[in-house]
Amino acid sequence: MDKSKSKELFRKAQNFIPGGVNSPVRAFKAVGGDPIFVKSAKGAYMYDEDENRYIDLINSWGPMILGHGNEAIEAAVADALKNSLSFGAPTAKEIEIAELITHMVPSIEKVRMVNSGTEATMSAVRLARGFTGRDKVLKFEGCYHGHGDSFLIAAGSGAATMGTPNSPGVTTGTAKDTLTAPFNDLEAVKKIVEQNKGEIAALIVEPVAGNMGCVIPKEGYLQGLRDICDQEEIVLIFDEVMTGFRLSKAGAQGIYGIKPDITTLGKIIGGGMPVGAYGGRKEIMDFVSPQGPVYQAGTLSGNPIAMSAGLTMLHYLNDHDEVYDQIAASGKYLAKEIAKVNTALGKNYTINQLGSMISVFFTDQPVDNFDGTKACDTEMFGKYFQGMLNEGVYLPPAQYESWFLSTSLSAEDLDHIVKSHEKVLKNLLT
Ligand code: PLP
Repeated sequence: MDKSKSKELFRKAQNFIPGGVNSPVRAFKAVGGDPIFVKSAKGAYMYDEDENRYIDLINSWGPMILGHGNEAIEAAVADALKNSLSFGAPTAKEIEIAELITHMVPSIEKVRMVNSGTEATMSAVRLARGFTGRDKVLKFEGCYHGHGDSFLIAAGSGAATMGTPNSPGVTTGTAKDTLTAPFNDLEAVKKIVEQNKGEIAALIVEPVAGNMGCVIPKEGYLQGLRDICDQEEIVLIFDEVMTGFRLSKAGAQGIYGIKPDITTLGKIIGGGMPVGAYGGRKEIMDFVSPQGPVYQAGTLSGNPIAMSAGLTMLHYLNDHDEVYDQIAASGKYLAKEIAKVNTALGKNYTINQLGSMISVFFTDQPVDNFDGTKACDTEMFGKYFQGMLNEGVYLPPAQYESWFLSTSLSAEDLDHIVKSHEKVLKNLLT
């Protein structure tokens, strides 16, 4: 496979952009080799600058659940373009999307639009602090909530991959207000809450984690968190930036039947445009300015182009239950067929899959928290990633990530992924 144009672009990019990329994981540091520079994408496929085609299993890290170049979304954007790119004033579309979100995610009674998942989580934590009058936040090892200072404490995803869990630039003052617990361990949470009684404003969690690979909550875990928060008057924040509108219309909370106090959203909500949101109980959301005292604002928040893309995406998902059946079936098929290949090759690698989120972990131990992910053979993953790339399958470039499926994947695409897996793994094992 010729990747010379990508190679040359990466060399040039490093002169002008830190590390040559605008988000660290894109630099392929965790898997070796040079990143692919993407020129275009359509449906299930991405095309690089050298005209190579890849089946896309990242889908822009989640947003492109309907695949690339969805005609309805692109038409909505083209239509909105005619009316100017931005107003910085309220629009009817903002009400429509807010109303639709409250309809699709019943725990959300009011919602504020922002421009990214990071903004959503930062704002949600500030709101929880303002609402409770407390300072501390409890988060979970391996969960990633964007790059806000409070979260870069033993964070997963890019930060863990890069080996800088405590990023320079985050003050010790900030770090002291962030408590961390292992995921899927209620006893640890109880202990920390007891030790910090009356001081914790919020507990923030990815209800199904995607940033230490796909890690599924144990039975009763999310309900246990809900109960602890109720008892201690702690604001429960579900960070559904990844899982929102992906695992179901109502996200992970819709599957597990747990109502958080605040939900953070991003990715799919913008249909591919830069959008985030946070919403929840009316009583809490009314603390946000200008209604309440907790300040939060944004020049481009509720941007009309982004709202048009997001609105079309959400309407489509709301009207098409079969989307979730289809991508869950694709997820199940991949997990089953990949497991078959592994067994035939004498390996019992752990595969976590829920709906359209999957991770194949190079370990035979169960992966239900960050320690589980860390036990994986990341060197092997790097070689596997490169092998799959050469077979035309674009995986997330780190073991610590989930694959995201789209409705555009055909049966032939799924079989190509399985066949590539077999070929690459066989090569690696012999
Ligand atoms: N929260 C979760 C669960 C995420 O997965 C991410 C990004 O991957 C974020 C927050 C941050 O979102 P953004 O990258 O849009 O700032």
